[in-house]
Amino acid sequence: MNNIREQINDLLKQQTELQVNYKESNICIYGKYHYSLKHNDVILDGVKDIKIEMDYEYPISIPKVYIFNLKEELEHVYKDNSICLATVGEILQYLIDKPSISEFLNRFLDPFIFSADWHLKYGVFPFGERKHGYEGLLSYYTEEWGLTKEQYIKMVFLIYHNKYKGHLPCFCNSGFKLRNCHGRYILPIVKNQRLRNTFLIESIMILNKDGKEYG
Ligand SMILES: [Zn+2]
Repeated sequence: MNNIREQINDLLKQQTELQVNYKESNICIYGKYHYSLKHNDVILDGVKDIKIEMDYEYPISIPKVYIFNLKEELEHVYKDNSICLATVGEILQYLIDKPSISEFLNRFLDPFIFSADWHLKYGVFPFGERKHGYEGLLSYYTEEWGLTKEQYIKMVFLIYHNKYKGHLPCFCNSGFKLRNCHGRYILPIVKNQRLRNTFLIESIMILNKDGKEYG
């Protein structure tokens, strides 16, 4: 399903208290988000006030999600109520499969809501604490992409300097060509200016130890 309006109409059929505003530069979806989420036989349900800002290029851009009526202050929620749902790399990996907006929310927003509600109820997090600050973000790339910090830095420089060459050896020292190795992760970033910017902003947070406020 490629048409963004069809996807949004679909979402609004399931979520009847959400509304959409098609602006010139982006799309704003807002209102009450109803959920009934199950994990280990525990069902948590309720309603949250949310706002989603996305642009017409979705899924070649990352939607920004806000949540308004949380009863506790939580890590990963910024002062403007936007949420750090995951690292840029993780979201991009997911968006490559071109999920619908609903699927995107199920994948990233629902676990966040579940974990917030669980924390309010039981005082602990159901999926374990997410690591904080730049270390938490970097750990995604070290654990999921199998990179050392030095290799992560090499990858950032390659993207920053637009030096993607598929036939060259990969920066992870696997001995494979870039295109047959980490190239599949980073090619979408290299090819798209917006994703590239988002990725580079995150890398500044990760590599600047004062970026602890982030994530
Ligand atoms: Zn590699």
